[in-house]
Amino acid sequence: MERFLPNDGVPGGIAMELRNCPECGKLFAFLSRNLCPECAALEDEYVKRIQEYLDGPGGATIKEISDATEVPEEKIISLLREGRLIVRGKACLLECERCGKPIDSGRYCASCRAILANSLKGSSAVSPKPMAGEEERPQGWKKARMHTAGLSRASDR
Ligand SMILES: [Zn+2]
Ligand SMILES: [Zn+2]
Repeated sequence: MERFLPNDGVPGGIAMELRNCPECGKLFAFLSRNLCPECAALEDEYVKRIQEYLDGPGGATIKEISDATEVPEEKIISLLREGRLIVRGKACLLECERCGKPIDSGRYCASCRAILANSLKGSSAVSPKPMAGEEERPQGWKKARMHTAGLSRASDR
């Protein structure tokens, strides 16, 4: 086996990493999205469908979008939070996670974002939760990395 983890342990290093898809559980080579190619394509299809709906005249509550596009509500919410959808001139769909004010995308309203950015500058104690998707590292991915790195090191000698 090739040593495909040249930067193991270096933050930001480019390393090929095998992960389990959080949607379907299949093993795939992680590039930039935490999804296997099939689920990534499905997600793109969802985004296209929802965006088309949002650009149309229909209402834009999560429920209405879900009914019209047949995309599960949780998926719509996570796509909105990730900023993958552009809500133009529709009623606001999400709530700020901090103060509950209606927002179009992301997790916080503008004023809460400013407050959080300020508090982050001062101390690292207040760290926002990772965005949906980033936190869903499959169990055992770290173990697999370490195992593989150990193997390649052993075969070097
Ligand atoms: Zn998948
Ligand atoms: Zn807020």
